[in-house]
Amino acid sequence: MSEIEHRGPAAPAPLEWEYAPAPEARDIVSLRERYGLYIGGEVVDPRSGEWFTTSSPADESPLAEVAQASGEDVDLAVGAARAAYENGWSSLRPAERAKYLFRIARILQERARELAVAESLDGGKPIKESRDVDLPLAAAHFFYHAGWADKLEYAFPNRKPRPLGVAGQIIPWNFPLLMLAWKVAPALACGNTVVLKPAETTPLTALMFADVCRQAGLPAGVVNIVTGDGSTGAELVRNDGLDKVAFTGSTDVGKAIQREVAGRGIPLTLELGGKAANIVFDDCALDQAVEGIVNGIYFNQGHVCCAGSRLLVQESIAEQLIGKLKRRLQTLRVGDPLDKNTDVGAINSRAQLEKIRDLVASGEADGAEIYQPPCVLPERGYWFAPTVFTNVAQSSRIATEEIFGPVLSVLTFRTPAEAVEKANNTPYGLSAGVWTEKGSRILWMASRLRAGVVWANTFNRFDPASPFGGYKESGFGREGGRHGLEAYLRFDE
Ligand code: NDP
Repeated sequence: MSEIEHRGPAAPAPLEWEYAPAPEARDIVSLRERYGLYIGGEVVDPRSGEWFTTSSPADESPLAEVAQASGEDVDLAVGAARAAYENGWSSLRPAERAKYLFRIARILQERARELAVAESLDGGKPIKESRDVDLPLAAAHFFYHAGWADKLEYAFPNRKPRPLGVAGQIIPWNFPLLMLAWKVAPALACGNTVVLKPAETTPLTALMFADVCRQAGLPAGVVNIVTGDGSTGAELVRNDGLDKVAFTGSTDVGKAIQREVAGRGIPLTLELGGKAANIVFDDCALDQAVEGIVNGIYFNQGHVCCAGSRLLVQESIAEQLIGKLKRRLQTLRVGDPLDKNTDVGAINSRAQLEKIRDLVASGEADGAEIYQPPCVLPERGYWFAPTVFTNVAQSSRIATEEIFGPVLSVLTFRTPAEAVEKANNTPYGLSAGVWTEKGSRILWMASRLRAGVVWANTFNRFDPASPFGGYKESGFGREGGRHGLEAYLRFDE
């Protein structure tokens, strides 16, 4: 173990108490040596003949070999999805479709511990988050959409909703199983079939989900999973057998996908990056706000598209709030993702760690003041200490670019109008937070913030009934709620 340097101005000494290790049992997951592609209800070797290794970001140990799907493999998967769509799934009685979704939801609940451990192993997130957030929410998405499957006529009265066909879906590495649920549940509920590509660094829970589909007796080809890197994603988007494309990930790749899909006449949903403002007014419950700030940026190591990565604090309380925040940071436990006491786990990949380091170095070079609590980081694996920057210039890269790591940039404001102006001064528009005791101010702010989601006196709250999505470079289309269903339907009005 190596001690990382304590940088920035002196802060009070860390608390002198320790937890005993509380590791979650790893043996509940039995990983196979190799995972093939899931096409037409079968696990098959890739035509490409290529495989890659997925490893644990916490200690860099290999976990399993995973197939690298080529264009030919993607073609087979799209063909299988098409056959399943035409040979029964799209014409199945909606109440029957609902039964499969309910079954999947129940199996996710039954296998929650196993899937949570696999998620933390492969992605590096703390087990308490996989266990208490990712898994319950993934199951909730299937339950919620199961409920809609036979009520689409009521969700869209007089509009005759019909499925689109085959959906190509690409998901990122920050919430692998949850993003899968956000994509697969509404698509299936509406009568579509899917080909899903998980991220290269976190394919395991999607592959375990293939097993969940088989356990649920889902007809072959309704869900197909093709693993691989960005080139597999590009092959999927390029495939002309698709009737819909849905993507969550970086803005750059989102733009490339939009270019590829343009002119093909198929609907596209893009859920991209963000640089959310978490706005704290002087009349708020300060300690509650500190918890919300911590949850906003250190949850899932800050690998969250809607993370509250820009703290806008009213000048009159800035010093007090930042003092409280620094003290709170000293209590965060960074380390083994499988330890139930861990608050901040491993950074998802070496590439992401390098990106975070690069942006943090640029923040220091720009003259912002850095604070990292004293903490011990494991020697192996990818780690970054929770970080706060104060004295941040609006133009600095750390105030404008998505860092996607546990790094908070603090800016100040004096008036609500200035807060709105600074919050909206970003190419993104995914989420925002407002902390104040005044209900009228919450409404005033919410109507002016250009963000798809505005949380009031809370942050990072998700519910399948609540639509989620962005403005501007954060993408378009909504996931969740009735709006999310619309993205997987056409209407014979
Ligand atoms: P990407 O956008 O590259 O990855 C998202 C998904 O798209 C992955 O499955 C990826 O595959 C796939 N993909 C990559 N290239 C293509 C392509 N040309 N066509 C189709 N699919 C493709 O995100 P990164 O993993 O590279 O992360 C980079 C940055 O993106 C992060 O630092 C963060 O700022 C942002 N990001 C935002 C997310 C969000 O939720 N808004 C989620 C993830 C990242 P593969 O993983 O195999 O390369």
